[in-house]
Amino acid sequence: MSLTEKDRQYLWHPYTQHKTSQTPIAITRAEGALLWDENNKEYIDAIASWWVNPFGHSNKFIADAIYKQLTTLEHVLFGGFTHEPAIKVAERLMEILPKNQQKIFFSDNGSTAVEVAIKVVLQYFFNKNEKRTTIIAFENAFHGDTFAAMAASGISFYTQAFQGMFIDVVRIPVPIKGQEQASFDALENAIKKHNCAGFIFEPLVQGAAGMVMYEPEALEKLIKICKENQVLTIADEVMTGFGKTGKTFAMDYVFEEPDMICLSKALTGGTIPMAITTFTQDIFNAFYDDDINKALFHGHTFTANPTGCAAVLASIDLLQTPEMQQNIERINTSHLNFQKKIENHPKIITARTLGVIFAVEIKSESEESYYGSMRTKLYNFFIDKGVVLRPVGNIVYILPPYIMTDEQLHKVYTTIEEAIEMV
Ligand SMILES: *Cc1c(COP(=O)(O)O)cnc(C)c1O
Repeated sequence: MSLTEKDRQYLWHPYTQHKTSQTPIAITRAEGALLWDENNKEYIDAIASWWVNPFGHSNKFIADAIYKQLTTLEHVLFGGFTHEPAIKVAERLMEILPKNQQKIFFSDNGSTAVEVAIKVVLQYFFNKNEKRTTIIAFENAFHGDTFAAMAASGISFYTQAFQGMFIDVVRIPVPIKGQEQASFDALENAIKKHNCAGFIFEPLVQGAAGMVMYEPEALEKLIKICKENQVLTIADEVMTGFGKTGKTFAMDYVFEEPDMICLSKALTGGTIPMAITTFTQDIFNAFYDDDINKALFHGHTFTANPTGCAAVLASIDLLQTPEMQQNIERINTSHLNFQKKIENHPKIITARTLGVIFAVEIKSESEESYYGSMRTKLYNFFIDKGVVLRPVGNIVYILPPYIMTDEQLHKVYTTIEEAIEMV
């Protein structure tokens, strides 16, 4: 039996209707920006395997760091114990995060990083005896699939089975260019009408919504409004973190500092599942008390796994090399040139770029519903050509590993151009 046949027998995939979905592709090895399947067909990984892999697959530098840690101290419980890899991760992150971030809390994936942030926001006010229980989030946000993260997410077909079981969330429009005021007004209104505790947002780029982008000045203003009203702010940098926007963090474009930051995805260079939520001292202080009930009763068995920490440290080393910074600039320049080349094409609605992130919206003659089938057509075309791209409806985006070569990038661009002609 082939791997795909065995898969069908045993496995349940994420975001998959198994009755109607296509057979998954069995990948047997990967290197740099390339993947190979069980028939030895080669694919360019143009979305860094769901945005996690900046430095290339099977990276030797990270693998060596992981091996060394695995054979020194692979794991130890973090309740009542500590270890150097966790402390070093904290020290390295403090150097590169916004200055007000003073405490870090470990978990295992982006959703739990968000879950922790939202629980901390709610308990922060509980500990202070203030009744604030509503979370503000953007329309079409994506913050993950655990319950609080799901409540804050606005992509409705993911969450409709659970309506009525969520924490209170009010949604405000994204301040896309020209529509900033509506977003500011909606935020002021939400704060007036509800007991708002926190505002969670994907800074500058909404990934799962289809790389929807907005300006730093708009986010600046929204955070200011929150601060004037003692509403805590959570920057969900799970997707945007570690260079994707052209700076280390998207929040580096914004003068106002958030109260909390969520990190995962590229945190370990796409190797080991790990996540971190970071906090200001003020937030930590609201839990620091003689009363045990004011503690944060949240934790995961694999909290601060030393092997994951070793991967984080190696990844930050790689990110900070001049070569990697040049790679990010090279890809950005290349994207901007490609954008200029295709944005006036009659079949293109808009194209946009930030850092290594590029997105293009393709026009369809027929209605909205057609985009479902357009998506499948595009996806299959790309796979057939040996390029991994996962369009969101009619939006095709590229988020390559930073080490992708110009030649590979060129193939991704020409494949997209061919696809635009095809649909
Ligand atoms: C992917 C993502 C998450 C969820 O992370 P998981 O590791 O899939 O749980 C949360 N927030 C943002 C912005 C993301 O892109």
